[in-house]
Amino acid sequence: MLHRLTISELTARIEKRECTSREATRACLDQIRRVDGQVKAFLSFDEADALAQADAADALVRGGATLAAKPLLGVPIALKDVLAHKGQPLNCASKILGNFISPYDATVVTKLKEAGAVVFGRLNMDEFAMGSSTENSAFFTTLNPWDTTRIPGGSSGGCAAAVAAHEAFATIGSDTGGSIRQPAALCGCVGVKPTYGRVSRFGLTAFASSLDQIGPFTKDVADAALVTQVLSGHDPMDSTSMREPVVDYRAGFDGDLKGLRIGLPKEYMIGGLDPEVDASVRQAVEQLRKLGAEIVEVSLPHTEYAAATYYIIAPAEASANLARFDGIRYGARVDGADPFELNSRTRGEGFGPEVKRRIMLGTYVLSSGYYDAYYIRAQKVRTLIRNDFLKAFEQVDVIVTPTTPSAAFKVGEKSDDPLQMYLCDVFTISCNLAGICGISIPCGFTASPKLPIGLQLLGKPFGEDTLFRVAHAYEQSTGWHREFSPLA
Ligand code: GLN
Repeated sequence: MLHRLTISELTARIEKRECTSREATRACLDQIRRVDGQVKAFLSFDEADALAQADAADALVRGGATLAAKPLLGVPIALKDVLAHKGQPLNCASKILGNFISPYDATVVTKLKEAGAVVFGRLNMDEFAMGSSTENSAFFTTLNPWDTTRIPGGSSGGCAAAVAAHEAFATIGSDTGGSIRQPAALCGCVGVKPTYGRVSRFGLTAFASSLDQIGPFTKDVADAALVTQVLSGHDPMDSTSMREPVVDYRAGFDGDLKGLRIGLPKEYMIGGLDPEVDASVRQAVEQLRKLGAEIVEVSLPHTEYAAATYYIIAPAEASANLARFDGIRYGARVDGADPFELNSRTRGEGFGPEVKRRIMLGTYVLSSGYYDAYYIRAQKVRTLIRNDFLKAFEQVDVIVTPTTPSAAFKVGEKSDDPLQMYLCDVFTISCNLAGICGISIPCGFTASPKLPIGLQLLGKPFGEDTLFRVAHAYEQSTGWHREFSPLA
């Protein structure tokens, strides 16, 4: 049952030589073989490469390597299909990349390897990270390990499902408007969207560069804090990564929230919020109060414009970023009589319908005559949204909300209605627009069927330490994270 351990439990055993990284890696590969036919989290994985990395980690252990120097020593960690891993396929769950193989490692992959991790596998997602269910993958839909008739969330659905099914000890995804926190909530794991600039984006395929941030999925908060710490830091290869010091987040865990002020935004208790989600979140707020926090009502008046603002800015940036997939420089190519025909045929056949919709929306809002009316206005509203948060954070240390309006929905339930799908993100997108940090942690279950519910905590820019401290105190006092999905 090695695959069921947390990272802290596994590394303690590896360091004491009670088990090897090869055994832990084998346990993940066996688990994938046992359940991934039902979950479909992985697009592919390179077993030989994973075992070779595990053997290298075991050699380090024999050589006396410590967790102080290599905090992820021997831990198998899988990647969303947007991150470059040298020598491995990178498709962004799209057909347009064809047989593309990454020529280099993303900075986060380098950092994971330096910390001793075994980096393996390509996890399914919505094509180019556009979606909230993985139904936009060009390959197949990933299913929720709590109920395989339901979606795992998205766009990093494969990341969340793999952790919930214990196919990897942690996974690394990207969050542009909720793509880490929303699937983490729907699959009952912990998911972190670090502050914009906290983690280098070098080697992350760009969707909306002013919103994208890389972060981990884990089984508990301590593991999330550890992996975030490993991923963090300035990188000369990403000029938007900041020179903020990297903090030992776990050093701040004390289980006590006395003196902390936690904000409950009045705008978040919206109509349309599922009553069971509402009840769980209210109960969680009571729990935070019991732990010593003072609960304060705050106002984020521009939140109601967040979805509209995001769906202008994100497609605008996407339309520019995705121009590089031209059939000439990368991946798949469909020939044409001239370069224009080649380009339009390649893009016509290579991109799926949601990606095309985003490119068209983005091109429209950036075109002359509409730029001022849509794009520039959205940028102004974005500033208002950020200012709401900065003002609220003068009063409180952390803000608490539901992560999603409902628990996991059925496959096919919203796939014909893009607007319904976009509304899955109402609670998560303002965090990206404001550039602040956020985490989703389990806070209960629906009654029947039993599906996980997520609590979102939002923190000040570079306030991850407080976020983890609150999340850890809550988690340890409730224990929702100790429930295993039926496929774990
Ligand atoms: N669901 C949102 C979208 O479709 C967010 C995606 C993301 O965070 N990558 O754009």
